[in-house]
Formats: sequence, structure tokens, C-alpha cells
Amino acid sequence: MLPLKLVYHDAYDLNLGAHVFPSQKFRLIRDRLLAEGFAQPDDFVQPEPANDDDLLLVHQRGWITRLKQGTLDYMELMKLEIPYSRQMVEAFWLAAGGTTLAARLALRDGIAFNVGGGFHHAFPGHGEGFCAINDIAVAIRKMQQERMIERAMVVDCDVHDGNGTAAIFANDPSVFTLSIHQDNNYPSIKPPSNIDIDLADGVGDDEYLDRLGAACRPAMRNFKPQLVLYVAGADPYREDQLGGLALSIEGLKLRDRLVFELARESGAATAVTLAGGYAVKVDDTVTIHCNTAKSAVEALWERC
Ligand SMILES: [Zn+2]
Repeated sequence: MLPLKLVYHDAYDLNLGAHVFPSQKFRLIRDRLLAEGFAQPDDFVQPEPANDDDLLLVHQRGWITRLKQGTLDYMELMKLEIPYSRQMVEAFWLAAGGTTLAARLALRDGIAFNVGGGFHHAFPGHGEGFCAINDIAVAIRKMQQERMIERAMVVDCDVHDGNGTAAIFANDPSVFTLSIHQDNNYPSIKPPSNIDIDLADGVGDDEYLDRLGAACRPAMRNFKPQLVLYVAGADPYREDQLGGLALSIEGLKLRDRLVFELARESGAATAVTLAGGYAVKVDDTVTIHCNTAKSAVEALWERC
């Protein structure tokens, strides 16, 4: 039995067919963790979909209604960059429920891992870049509403800037946002996070880890979050199709360890979400995300 829960639902799959976003990756990660004997079926918990009231803590009612009714206009669909389907909408409701459950379990167990979520390009009133509902923000708002926490920090390590999350929490001193991303990449307009680490094209393991540690360590010490939402994108990988950084699989593992270690030092619980990952070989994306789950377990063992 693992010392943490893996939050997963078969319906996380966004039903995208032949799309650069490998939405079958959620199932492939679950299958790999089981096949390797790392996890047992009992280590997985199944989330309920978020309810609309929870989504309204972050999103505008009109956006939620248009998503549910399938009445998005042409521009909204263009920005979202994924085909509309009933299954896609349900997957976003489930991802928000899943990240909320992961936040809840992280506060109980120290760390929890959502085998999904991380949809950081979603804004209150529109979606962008494969993201319709910002599960990260919903989870934080829900934990604050229930008075489980006061302060949360988002450590967004996806190769793309966390624009939606930054905009949602722009004027909120209770949520600290940090985004480390490739500057010369989507989205072109990057609303300021509390800390933005804008990396040049081709940055590799050493510079990435140095700059993440140098920014994140003092930020966590000063802000003292009770909950960290770790957006563990696999797309800083050097063989990513939508990324232009040059991290190795080993470097990404060190990144995971660094984030878990810094959170532990500051006494924060950590909920992990996956976000992007578009490696030429889907297997590499699966390996990178599975390594994050393994680093999470190692971090918990070290706590004991
Ligand atoms: Zn990304």
C-alpha cells in the first residue's frame, strides 16, 4: 500500500482522437504504475465530478452554462483548440473534482497525486490551449471555502506559462503563483504571476534546476503556504513537440524531488497535477509522469 493516494478516473480521457494532446495518457500512466507493481488497485481513488457551485468559485456562470449546453461560439472553440464533445466536458468536471480530492487528501497524507488535471490555461470566462476548467484554482478556492487552508502556492513547472492561474489569482494575496516556463512559447500574452521565471530556448537541466530552486526556496519560506499545487508538466522535456527547452528525463526527476523537498521544508502539503506532455514518444511522457509519482512516494518516506 502506498503512503499516498493516486486520484484517477477512466473518464479523464478528453476524447480527442488524433490530437497532439495524448488524452489517453491518464490511463497509460495508471496502467504503467500497476504493471510495474509500483501501485496496487487499492492505491487509486475515484473522484466525483466537481459540482457547478464549486466551479463558480472560479468561473463565470455563462462559461459553465455554454460548456454544458454545447453553445460555445466559433472563437471560443478556436481558442480552446480541442473538439467539443459531451465526454470532453465531463472530463473537465472530473478533473476539477479530482484535483480538489487530491488537495483534500494531500492535507491528510502530506502529498496526493492526481493522475490528471493541471489545466492552467483556463480563465474565469473562457478556455484556451486545451484547458476549459481551471482545476488548480477550483481546488484552492474549495479548500479555502471549507477553511481547510488560508494560503496556497501554485508551483507551475509546465513548459508553458500558467496564464489562466496567474490571472485568476492576480489580486489575491492568499495565493502565491510561480510559473517557470519557456519565454518564447505559447501563450503570447503572459499575465504576471507573483514570480515568473522566463527561460530562454534550449535551457537544460542545470540552469532550470538552479533557477527554480533560487526562486522557489525563498518564496516558500516567506509565504509559508499550507498547500502547494504542483503543476508537474512533462513538456519541458527535450523531445517535446510543443516545448523548446532541453531537460532530460533524469533532470525532470530532479525537478520533482526539488519541489517536494522545498514543500516539505516549508511544512506544506502538496497536491500534484499533470498538465502537458507532448513527447514524440507517448511512452516518454508516461515515464516522466510516473517518475513524478515515484518521487512523491520517496519524499513521503523521507518525511518519516
Ligand atoms: Zn504545457
